[in-house]
Amino acid sequence: MGSRANPFELNTTNFLFVVRFLCENLCMTNQLTFASSVADGIYCVDTGFGRDNFDASYLIVSDSQAAFVDVGTNYSAPRLLKTLDELSLTPDQVRYVILTHVHLDHAGGAGEMMRLCPKAQLIVHPRGARHMIDPSALRAGAVGVYGEEAVQKDYGQLLPIDSCRVTEAGEGFVINLGQRELICLDTPGHAKHHIAIWDPQSRGVFTGDTFGLSYREFDTEQGAYIMPTTTPIQFDPVALKESVERISALNPVCIYPTHFSRVNDVPRLKNIFLKQLDEMVEMAVSFKDSPNRYEKIKSGLADIYENHLKTNGCNISRQDLEGFLAIDLDLNTQGIEVWLDKAQ
Ligand SMILES: [Zn+2]
Repeated sequence: MGSRANPFELNTTNFLFVVRFLCENLCMTNQLTFASSVADGIYCVDTGFGRDNFDASYLIVSDSQAAFVDVGTNYSAPRLLKTLDELSLTPDQVRYVILTHVHLDHAGGAGEMMRLCPKAQLIVHPRGARHMIDPSALRAGAVGVYGEEAVQKDYGQLLPIDSCRVTEAGEGFVINLGQRELICLDTPGHAKHHIAIWDPQSRGVFTGDTFGLSYREFDTEQGAYIMPTTTPIQFDPVALKESVERISALNPVCIYPTHFSRVNDVPRLKNIFLKQLDEMVEMAVSFKDSPNRYEKIKSGLADIYENHLKTNGCNISRQDLEGFLAIDLDLNTQGIEVWLDKAQ
């Protein structure tokens, strides 16, 4: 007597144990290692390129068919496959690998993903298709900028894709993924080989780099901050403005930029984007013939970002900003210089 547990207590303990067990296991089906759900049937996978929450691949699932929009690099493939597996999908169910453009943080892993997903078709802008069929020029271009060692470390070897598996998608091209229709828009400005993909079902647009970069680290109570990206070598501010206006004209409830993840309140973001773009162009033109042009433009860009971040309620120090955005500041300055020289 006394050593025997009260049957009611026993039942409660068991009951709580069962509840906890079910909770943990049910939650596990929703918890993805590298991805998060951002809309019905849309997942944002962190490709692991660069740093956490920098480079996304979006996985769209509809009627047991899957598509990736951008795929990171070769080294991202295990994360993409892991996400498929966690959603009980196989690589054979991947119908499409869609590239917003062929810059290597978006398309570097395309050949590898096409190898791993044998039933997939590659969807790419007509200007990008030949670089996916024969990626040697694309890689040589990157080696020219970053050097062989860095390219090997960041991207590895780029696998060519059989031309019969490459579909060129220009303005108005429709991708059918199960019941879902995805519509391509030709959106130059960041690159001439850039498409955006409109998903009427979620009323969202996969914008690649056209609608800029939006890092979650800069989110405030006012919402997200977004900044134009002007990386070499095809930055064209007039075309970029037009592309952003066209995307906004669809009245999307959100955009899915590759850097990084879903953001809402598109009209507000468009204003922030276009204001900065105008300021960037004006600043760059004012330094067009200056000595130390690179340093002046880079510092001018940091001024513009700092100012707009403050307006958006983010009081990051100048030092932290220059550290966090070091690569963006460098690449954006380089791209603006290329544009200035072309304009000359
Ligand atoms: Zn990018």
